Amino acid sequence: MPDPISNLEERQCSEHPGSAPVPGALPGAPIPNPAAMPDRDTGQILAEILVGGELKIHLIGVAGSGMSGIAGLLIALGHQVSGSDKATTVEVARLQTLGLRFAQHHAAEHVAEADLVIYSSAIRPGNPEYDEALRTSRNLVRRADALAAIMNCKKGIVICGMHGKTTTSSMTAHVLRGGGLHPSHYVGAEIPILGTNAAWDAAGEFFVAEGDESDGTLAFYHPEHAIVLNIEEEHLDYYADLAAIEVVFRQLLAQTRGKVIFCADDPHATRVCSPHPGAVSFGESRSAVYRFDDVHAKEFQSHFRVVHAGQPLGAVTLNVPGRHNISNAVGVIALATELGVPFAKIAAALETFRGARRRFEIKYRSERYMLVDDYGHHPSEIRATLATAKNTGRKRVLCMFQPHRFSRTQKLKEEFGRAFPDADVAFIADVYPASEVPIPGVTGQTIVDEMIREGHEAAQYQPDRARLTLELGRMIEPGDCVISLGAGNIHEAATLLARDIARLDELQNVMGPGLARLYEPLARHTTMRVGGPAQFWVEPETEDGFARLVKFTTDHAIPLFVLGRGSNLLVRDGGIRGVVAHLARGEFKRLEVREGKLHAGVGVKQKELAYAARDARIGGFEWFEGIPGNVGGALRMNAGAMGGETFRQVVSVRYVDPQGDFHMQTPGEMDVHYRHCGLLEKNYAVSATFRGFPSTPEEIEQKLEASTQKRRTSQPRESSAGCIFKNPEQCPAGKLVDELGLKGTRVGGAKVSEVHGNFLVNDQQATAADVLALIAQVQARALAERGIRLETEVQIVGEERGLFA
Ligand SMILES: Cc1cc2nc3c(=O)[nH]c(=O)nc-3n(C[C@H](O)[C@H](O)[C@H](O)COP(=O)(O)OP(=O)(O)OC[C@H]3O[C@@H](n4cnc5c(N)ncnc54)[C@H](O)[C@@H]3O)c2cc1C
Repeated sequence: MPDPISNLEERQCSEHPGSAPVPGALPGAPIPNPAAMPDRDTGQILAEILVGGELKIHLIGVAGSGMSGIAGLLIALGHQVSGSDKATTVEVARLQTLGLRFAQHHAAEHVAEADLVIYSSAIRPGNPEYDEALRTSRNLVRRADALAAIMNCKKGIVICGMHGKTTTSSMTAHVLRGGGLHPSHYVGAEIPILGTNAAWDAAGEFFVAEGDESDGTLAFYHPEHAIVLNIEEEHLDYYADLAAIEVVFRQLLAQTRGKVIFCADDPHATRVCSPHPGAVSFGESRSAVYRFDDVHAKEFQSHFRVVHAGQPLGAVTLNVPGRHNISNAVGVIALATELGVPFAKIAAALETFRGARRRFEIKYRSERYMLVDDYGHHPSEIRATLATAKNTGRKRVLCMFQPHRFSRTQKLKEEFGRAFPDADVAFIADVYPASEVPIPGVTGQTIVDEMIREGHEAAQYQPDRARLTLELGRMIEPGDCVISLGAGNIHEAATLLARDIARLDELQNVMGPGLARLYEPLARHTTMRVGGPAQFWVEPETEDGFARLVKFTTDHAIPLFVLGRGSNLLVRDGGIRGVVAHLARGEFKRLEVREGKLHAGVGVKQKELAYAARDARIGGFEWFEGIPGNVGGALRMNAGAMGGETFRQVVSVRYVDPQGDFHMQTPGEMDVHYRHCGLLEKNYAVSATFRGFPSTPEEIEQKLEASTQKRRTSQPRESSAGCIFKNPEQCPAGKLVDELGLKGTRVGGAKVSEVHGNFLVNDQQATAADVLALIAQVQARALAERGIRLETEVQIVGEERGLFA
């Protein structure tokens, strides 16, 4: 086949040597200066070639959503299409079934037979296929050239503007489909309602495309019609100022043959578009040709009326939220009406329209919680999206925002500072660089500083993504709307949160009355004051609710851990995955004395047990007084002191098995020994009955006082987990540690107590890692110097790495 076109890339370079470079494109490969463009540009020439017969076309970087869309369109146009990329996607796999020849690596020979090579903006010189195409003078074009060319094969409809173009272009394609016009389309995100983000319909004459203004490529298009939603300062990494942005829009309009539908509420769009001979305005403003009024919005639905040139057209129901989307829909109504689609068909299509991915995408919604993800990254978008979130009527809006590009963060910092009035809590993440190198001093903190200047006290910078997710997650309460915003990868955090919120909601439903929350810091619930978060923290109020929860976790293979007062626990810094149940509310706090016996729920403190016995003149419970745990922990650990032991006083234990069934057992039926109750390793105690012996108030008080005195003089006051090691056969662990001269030894904020050698204390914000390192040090010395293996009495639980590691 003769070479159908000259090397277009080279042609552009030589024609426009002085124009600005395209970010991500070749150094020295400037985009055409629109003002100096000849009548027949790349897109027009290519368009003629694309419909002129079957070509072999290769796409470098085909797996990206924009490139795979083009591959699909070229296959539909009847070309032989091949593509390469480092990764593959579901969309690539689908295209392979339609004929795409795909290679999951880049190699020079892939372009050997290509008549035309298209490359994505992520491809740089040094890529073997790109270099080979240049070396062999293949026809090498950018994605935007290819898209312009494909659009030029039909009557193009370009949807452009800084904000809302993905939703509006998909809405346009959907409405024109509903009107029977069989449009082809190309939009910048996954649109479930359209099937794929690009499609070719040979039966129709229109091609709807989302026009990208970010790098000037908007000026490549020669459409039949255009919708201009708004024009504002954006992409200031590429454009010098608003005037430079307007030059590109003016160029597009100069190349638009038919209607220019523009938003009359946007002053810049009005100034640029209204002189066009085909200009038609829309919006809320009284001067708009297509106007909307009588708006009623409820959570995600809006109802409004449309008036055309003073005459009512009819009512519309829209199922995508926000006033900005009403305005966008009226732009689509204006276009479709001008193209002759009857209003009834337009309204019917709009009612069934559902939004694009990452455009106010509801990732989870229930009566308690709502989690939304949005692509918004410009201050105006953020403002509009947060206003929409606020209008959902939820109690609070909790937002996490990831700035996109250092240049935008720097140039629009003041606007960012004013963009969050509707967020009750705002976490600002690290800057997503896109292709930029960092600008010194520009971080998420830049925005937080501006927000605080604007009086937004609830703003905080959190560059660590895992911590951001945990900190935001633990603030969530029923009634909240959580929203993630940004064009980078913040949506990954939203996906994790949505997964966990959904599970939390399920747990709450299963459990019934009680508290459920995410990522509760376990350092708050252990006497050592260390430990990472519980993935799901629950505090059921009823035994039945707890039993249902146990069964649910068994059925769904979710780990379950029951925590008492955390006085015999060392929770690792990574926290505990799964459900942590704290049985210390409602029925678990019941404590009664009947017929000389104490009946206690597992949430009763051991100290309360001692004082209830005293009040009932029952002796034998005094030793419980100084143990900082609950009845549940006393049963599981068979706690003891001053010669007393829990199971010597237990009459019976009521417990739940992993299937959620209740049982009762007496001590003789259980495997009980020193600081251990085997039954409760896999079952969960809910209550117990205890017995003592008759005693006098004086005798009881005396023993209580003796217990208090002993602890006061022999135990440290700082935070600890009690005795850390079991006493070895040879001698008490505390004495051994003392003899080894280890008292006062420190790792980080953890120290061997000066008061008692078997206590490790947290005296300076220790981490679990500090405590564990100190335990290892003591064990190593005991083994090396005395041949004694010290075993821990404290239980060590949880993850070494974080929940999101
Ligand atoms: C300063 C101090 C002094 C101490 N003195 C003593 C002492 O003199 N004698 C002594 O024996 N201990 C002592 N301890 C250790 C500790 O207080 C006891 O082991 C206590 O019984 C643990 O109770 P807890 O509620 O804190 O249990 P936690 O530490 O929360 O849990 C301990 C274990 O019990 C399990 N568990 C909790 N509730 C249930 C339940 N309902 N069903 C099944 N399993 C359950 C947990 O899963 C965990 O495995 C001391 C601790 C400190 C900090």
